[in-house]
Amino acid sequence: MLKLTNTLTGAAEPFKPADGVTVRMYACGPTVYDYSHIGNFRTFVFVDILRRHLKSKWNLVHVMNITDIDDKIIRNATEKGIDIRDYTAPYTAAFFEDSARLRIETPDVITAATDYIPEMIQVVERLLANGHAYREGNSIYYRIASFPSYGRLSHLDRRELKVGARIDADEYEKEQPNDFVLWKGPKDDTEKRWDTPFGAGRPGWHLECSAMAMKHLGETLDIHCGAVDLIFPHHENEIAQSEGVTSKPFARVWLHGEHLLVENEKMSKSKGNFYTLRDLLEKGHSAHALRYLLLSVQYRKQLNFTLAGLEQAQRSLDRIKEFLFRLRNATLDAGAVPEISDAVAKARSQFEAGLDDDLNTAQALASVFDLIRACNTALDKEQLRQEDRTAILDWFSEVDRRLAIVPPEDGLSAGDDEIEALIAKRNEARRSRDFAAADQIRKELLDRGILIEDTREGTKWRRR
Ligand SMILES: [Zn+2]
Repeated sequence: MLKLTNTLTGAAEPFKPADGVTVRMYACGPTVYDYSHIGNFRTFVFVDILRRHLKSKWNLVHVMNITDIDDKIIRNATEKGIDIRDYTAPYTAAFFEDSARLRIETPDVITAATDYIPEMIQVVERLLANGHAYREGNSIYYRIASFPSYGRLSHLDRRELKVGARIDADEYEKEQPNDFVLWKGPKDDTEKRWDTPFGAGRPGWHLECSAMAMKHLGETLDIHCGAVDLIFPHHENEIAQSEGVTSKPFARVWLHGEHLLVENEKMSKSKGNFYTLRDLLEKGHSAHALRYLLLSVQYRKQLNFTLAGLEQAQRSLDRIKEFLFRLRNATLDAGAVPEISDAVAKARSQFEAGLDDDLNTAQALASVFDLIRACNTALDKEQLRQEDRTAILDWFSEVDRRLAIVPPEDGLSAGDDEIEALIAKRNEARRSRDFAAADQIRKELLDRGILIEDTREGTKWRRR
C-alpha cells in the first residue's frame, strides 16, 4: 500500500485516487525567464519518480504548467522590446531539452499561462461576485480575511493575518500573510496587458495554477505537488482562490520536495555555487549521473549536492553497467538456482516496499545493489544459471521503467539523449568556430559507433 506524506496533515497517509482508477495530479512547472537550475530539477525528478510509481498502479493524468507570465519575464521582455512569448520560447525549449537528458517523462498535459487567460478571468469574476476579491486602484486583490482556513497548509497562525495589507509582487517574503494580487493593472503604457470586463492588466502568478488545474482536473485534485518553497505563499494562495470559487477542497494530498543545498549552502549566483545541467555537462559530467544523485535521497530529506557526490553517482551507474555487461556475456548453464530466485524476489519486494513508503528511493536503490552483490558472488562461483539471468534482466527493465537509471544495453553505445547532447555541444563548438573541439566530439561519437552527417536540415546521426 502506497503511503505519502500530506503537507496538509503532516502525516504519512495511505493513498489511492478518489475514483479508485485514475490519479489526477497537478505539478507546478518552471518559470521560464532563465535556465532551470539543479535545485529546480531535483523537484522535477521527484515528480517524475512519483509519476512513474503512480502509473505502476493506476491511470494517471499529470498536468504541469509553464509560467510564462511573471514579474521578471514582463520586466525582461519589456527591456528587450520583444513579446513575452518570444522572450520565453528559448527557455521553455531548454527546459524540455534538459528534462529529456535527465530522462524526465513529459507530463500528459502542459499548460502555458498565456493560453489560459479566459479561464483566469473567469476565476477572478467569480471571486469578485462572491466577495472574496475586491478592487483597489486598477488591480484586483484577494481578501484573505474572507477565507477562514487561510494558512492551513503552511500552518500560519491566523492572528498574524494583516487584514487589509496588500501585496502586488508574484513572490513575497515568508510569514507575511497579506491580501494578494489576482489581477494587476499595468504600471505604464508599455507593460503587456490583456483586456477583461474588470479592466486591462495581467494575472498574478498564483491565479494561473488554480485556473489551469481546475480546467483539466476538476474541482478537487488527487495530488498537488511542487517544491517546498511554494507552500507559502503560492500554494496557500492557490487553495484560497480555488476553494473561494468552489467551496470544495482543492487537493486531497499536497506533496512537497525538499531543498537542494550545494556544499551545505543555499545555491546562489553570487556565491558561485549555482549550477544548471548545462554547467555540469560542460564540466564533463553526465545528465544520468545527476539524475541518479538527485533521486538517491528521499524527496522529503534535504540533499547536499557536491561534485564529489556527482562522481560517486557516476561510479554507482558504472557498477550497474558493468554488472549487466558481465551478466549478459557470461556463459551459463541451463536451469535456475533457488538462492538466486529468492534473491530476485526479495529485491523486487524491497524495491516496491521502499517506493510505497513515501517514495523511499534510497531503499529502492539499496535493493538493486544488494542483488548485484549477491549475483556477482554467484557469478564468481559459477552458481548462476540461464533462467536466473532472464529473471534478473526482467527485473532490471522494471527498475528502469520506475527509476530510469539503468544504462543502455550495449556497453559501448550511448543512449539517444546522450548522443543528442553531444551533437548539440558539437554544433555549439562549430558556431563559435572552435573546430578542434567539434572534431574531438565527432571522433568521440565515432568511437562509440555513431556516424554523423551535417545536412541543411541540421545534423543527422545513425548507429554504425
Ligand atoms: Zn503553481
